[in-house]
Amino acid sequence: MFVGYGKKIRVKTREVERKSKKLYKCPSCSRVSVKRESHGVWKCKKCSIKYASGAFEFKW
Ligand SMILES: [Zn+2]
Repeated sequence: MFVGYGKKIRVKTREVERKSKKLYKCPSCSRVSVKRESHGVWKCKKCSIKYASGAFEFKW
């Protein structure tokens, strides 16, 4: 009765992973170099500013 349920979970995990590995635009220097450093912590590689944002997606 739960056929397909596990598959849906895997797709969602992949989507979250894709977002968490993506580089985001830095609100400070406007360069696309904000990378997820740890859970909810994002850091710009260019200006080294850290941002507290979503756990898997950068929202500013
Ligand atoms: Zn920056």
